[in-house]
Amino acid sequence: MAITIHTYRLAKQLERPLKEIYEARKNLIFIVPSREDKNLLLEMLSLKGFRFNLPQIWQWGDLYSGLSDILRRSGFETVVKRQLDPPDHWLVVRHLVHDILASSKELKEKIPAVGQPAFIETIGRQLHELIGEDTLPEDLSTTLNCKSCTDDCPHLTEPTGLLCHIYKKYLNYLNENDLADSAQIPILARKLLDTESLARQLKDRPFVLVGFMSFMRAQREFIDTLDDIGASIDIFKPDSTMGDKFYDAEQQFAEKAFIGKVSEDRPAKIRLFTCGDPRQELETLARNLWFKVEEGVLTFKDIAIEIPSSYKNIAEDVLNAYRIPWKSGSGKYLNETMCWDLVKRLKIAKDENWPFLATIGLLSNPLFGFDLPKEFLEFLKERIPSGAKEWTDILCKSGATELTRIIKKWDSFFDHIKRGSNVESLFQRLLKLLDDELEIRKRAGACVTDPSLDESLYEVSKFLEALEKKALSLAESLPELGPAQKDMLSEAEGWEYLNRFAEETRILPPKRKRESVTIYFDSSPVLATHKLYVVINATSQQWPGKITDPPLLNDEARRMIHENANLAGIHLPLRHERRQQKEALFRRHLYASTEETWLTFSAIDAQGRPNKLSPFLEMDGEKEDLYIIVEETRRPLSKLLPEGERFLREAEVPKDKLSRPRRKPIPSVKPKDEGYLSDIDTWVQCPALYAYRSILKLFQPKEAGLDAQKCGNMLHLLWSKAWKMRSSEKGLSLEACVEQLWEEVVESTYPLLNHIRKLHRHRERLRLQVLRLARIQEEIYLKLRTAFASTEWERQLPPFTINDVSFRGRADRIDHLKEIGQILWDYKTAGSKNYENSLQLASYALALSKADQKTGGAFYLCHSDSMCLGHISKEHKGLDKRLVPEGYSDNIKIKREKLEDIAKRAEEQLISWAKDLTSGSFEPHYDRKTCKDCQYKVLCRKSEIEGGEWLENGEQ
Ligand code: SF4
Repeated sequence: MAITIHTYRLAKQLERPLKEIYEARKNLIFIVPSREDKNLLLEMLSLKGFRFNLPQIWQWGDLYSGLSDILRRSGFETVVKRQLDPPDHWLVVRHLVHDILASSKELKEKIPAVGQPAFIETIGRQLHELIGEDTLPEDLSTTLNCKSCTDDCPHLTEPTGLLCHIYKKYLNYLNENDLADSAQIPILARKLLDTESLARQLKDRPFVLVGFMSFMRAQREFIDTLDDIGASIDIFKPDSTMGDKFYDAEQQFAEKAFIGKVSEDRPAKIRLFTCGDPRQELETLARNLWFKVEEGVLTFKDIAIEIPSSYKNIAEDVLNAYRIPWKSGSGKYLNETMCWDLVKRLKIAKDENWPFLATIGLLSNPLFGFDLPKEFLEFLKERIPSGAKEWTDILCKSGATELTRIIKKWDSFFDHIKRGSNVESLFQRLLKLLDDELEIRKRAGACVTDPSLDESLYEVSKFLEALEKKALSLAESLPELGPAQKDMLSEAEGWEYLNRFAEETRILPPKRKRESVTIYFDSSPVLATHKLYVVINATSQQWPGKITDPPLLNDEARRMIHENANLAGIHLPLRHERRQQKEALFRRHLYASTEETWLTFSAIDAQGRPNKLSPFLEMDGEKEDLYIIVEETRRPLSKLLPEGERFLREAEVPKDKLSRPRRKPIPSVKPKDEGYLSDIDTWVQCPALYAYRSILKLFQPKEAGLDAQKCGNMLHLLWSKAWKMRSSEKGLSLEACVEQLWEEVVESTYPLLNHIRKLHRHRERLRLQVLRLARIQEEIYLKLRTAFASTEWERQLPPFTINDVSFRGRADRIDHLKEIGQILWDYKTAGSKNYENSLQLASYALALSKADQKTGGAFYLCHSDSMCLGHISKEHKGLDKRLVPEGYSDNIKIKREKLEDIAKRAEEQLISWAKDLTSGSFEPHYDRKTCKDCQYKVLCRKSEIEGGEWLENGEQ
C-alpha cells in the first residue's frame, strides 16, 4: 500500500473527496487535529444528529485507546496506560524537579531559575517536544559526550544536562506508574501495531488524516509502521506554499508518498482594515459587517471572526454594542467563567484578611443570592468589620447565622490550602465548598427567573461538573498518578495546580441562535470554512509574535542533536523554522474563507504602543499567487466617528450630529415658594446640584466608616452645652468644659466613635480639633467679655420674601454684644478654604437687617484647620482689633469685604434663586472645580463631556 498526500488550500474543497472516500470505505478511521474538527468533518460528510454507524473519527489522543479497543474486541487483554492531562503532567514534573533540587545543593545556585514556579512549565514543554520527536534518553546523553549515564550526573548544573537528567527520570516515572504523556501516544500506539492480530485487522482499514501540515517524529513513525503493515493512508494537508525549505509532511514523506492536489489553487481575496486602536479596529469591523449583511451579500451565519484573547473583552463589548449575534466556536475555559472569578476574588479577600469593602462585595455577589437589607448594610457600614473573627463576631451577634456560616466556610477552605494539601483533597475541598457548603448552584438557580435561558446558570453548572469530574478522576482513576499524587503542595503550588486546571479545561459552549457570527478565540479548527473569515490583529506582535530560544534546549543544542549521526530523523525545530510554522499557520487562516478574508490592524495596541503590520503580509511577486489585497479601508483615530458616511443608528453617532450644540439636561420640579438660606452656597455653585440634593433628595448610599452628618450634630450639641456650662460655672474655661462634656456627648450622639476600634483615630482627631477651637473661642470671649450680654442657640431667623419666595434660616449661635449688636457664628467640620466665598452667613445677616436688626460680624468656626473666618460690618470697623486675641492672628481671618457688601451680593443671588424656585427649573453649572467630585455628574451629563469639548456655563 502507499501513502498519498492530497494538498488543498480551502477546507471547503475537501467535501467531495472525503465523501467519496467515506462512501467507498465505510470502515475507515479518520484522524483530525481537534475536537471541533470532529464535528466539522461530520458536517462535511453530511452526517449529523444521532445516527448509528458514524465513522470513527479520532484525534491523536484517541489513537492509543482506540487501537486498544479494537484489540480488546478481538479477544486480547491490553493494559491501557493512563494519559496525563496538563495539570497532572505539571504535578509529575513538579515532583521530579523537587526530587532533583533535594539531591543537589549546587543546582539552585548555578541555575537559579530552577527554583521559580514558572520553571516547571518551561521544562514540561521541552519534555513534550523531546518525547514527540521520540528522542531516546541515551541519544540526548550522547550530545553531551556522556558515554554512560550515572546517578551522579556531571552535567546536572548545565541547562542541557539538567534537561537530559529530568527527561530520563520523567520517562522512568511514566513507565513505573503505567502512565503516558500525551506526546507519547503515537509511540504507544505504534507498539500496539506489533501485535499480529491488530496488524491483520488494520491491514484493510484505510486511515485518513485530515488537516495536518506536518508531523512530529513519533507520529511519523506511527504512520510509517501503518504503511509497513499495509494499511492505506491518505493525508489531506493544507497547502501553505512555503516552498521546499519548509519541513512539512511533503518533505517528511518525500521518499514514499504520492503527492496530488485536491483542486486548482486560487489566491485568497483580502480586504485590509487599518485603524487607530483596537477598539476602533473592532468598531470599524462591526459596522462593515452590518453593511454586508444589510446588502444581503451575507448572513451572520456565513461569518467567522478569529480573535486573540487580548481582544476578548473589547470584542464582546463591541459586538454586543453593535447587536451582532455571536456564538463561540469553542467553549470558555474555566478560568474565564464567573465561578473562577469568584474563587479568585475570595482568595484575594482572604490574603488581605477579609477587608470590609471586598467582603461586603462578595456577600452581595448574585451567586450567593443574599439580598442584604438596607438597614443591615448601614449597620455593617458603621462597624466596618474586617478579619474573619471580627466579621463572624458581628454577624453572629446580629443574628445573621447564614452569613456567619458562609464566612467561616470561606475562611476554613483557604486555611486548608494554606496548611498544604495533596491534589485529591484540594479538589474535593473546593467542590465541597462551592457545591455543598456555599450551594452556588442552588443559589444561582434561585436568582434567575427562566433557567433555560440563563447562560450564567449553565456556566455554574458546567463549572461544577468539571470540578466533579476531575475530583472523581483523581480519587478513583487507575492507575494512580504515583507518588506525585500524594505530594503535599504548598499554598502557592496548590493554586498553581488549580490555575493550570482552569486554564486547560473548557466547558461546552451554550446553545445560541444559529443565525450568529462564529467567534474563534486565538485559533480556529483546521476544517473551519466560512464565506467571510476575519483575522483580528494582523500585526507583527501577533504574527509571528516573539519567538524566543527555549532556555534549556537552545538552537545550538538542537543543532548538535541534528548533527549527531546516531540521531538521524530527529528534528527539533530551530528558531527560523518556528517562524516558518507561524507563517504557514497564518496562510492557512487566509484560506479559511470561500469568498473573502478580512484582516484588521491598528496603529497602536491597547497600551498605546505602536504596532506594525505583520511581515507575513509584505507583498512581493511570489505572493501574488497566494493572496491579493482587493480593498483597503483606512480609519485613523482622527475619524473616530463616521462623518459624511452612513452611520448605524443606536450604535454610532455621526460627528456632524455631535458638533451641534448639545442641550444640558435641566432638572424640572414643581415650582416652590420657599428656600432655605443654608442652601444658598450649593445653589450658587450649581443650581442643578441644589435641585438634586435639596429638592429631589437624591443621595448616594452612605459610605462605610465615619458618618460626617453624625459628627456635625455631635459637635453642635457639644458647643451649645459647653458654652452653657462656661457661662454658669465661673472659673471654668471653655476648653475645660469641652473636656468634661466630651465623653457624655459622644456617647449620647455617636456612641460608635467610642466602641468601634477603627473609628478611634477619628474620635481622637475630632477631640483635638475641638480643644484647639475651644482655646481660640475662649480667647475671643475674653477679649469681648466686657461687651458680652447674652447668647442664643439655634435661633430661627426672621423670614423674608423675595419675588414671592420666602427665605428662612436658622443660626447656630448668636452673641448679643453691647454697642456692637449681634455676632453670628456658624460651626463647620471642614476647613476654612471651603467658606472663603460662602454667602450663607451674609444671607443670615441680610435676614436680620430686613427685620431691622444690626449685625456687627459673622464668622465661620472651622474645626478642620482651627480657623475663624468672616466679615465685619462697616459700622464696627474697629471690631477686628477688639476681636483678635494676641498670639491668635493666624487663626482668625477677617475678610476685607464688609458684611453689608457681601449681604448685598447675597441678595442679588437670592433674586436669581427665587426665579429658579418659582419656575422649578435648575440649569447645571459646569465648572471643573465643583463638578470634580460631584455625585450627580451622570445625571447632568457632565461625565459625558469630560475630556471632550467643553460647554462652560453660559455657553449655548
Ligand atoms: S456635575 Fe457639575 S454641573 Fe453636574 S450637578 Fe454636579 S456640580 Fe452641577
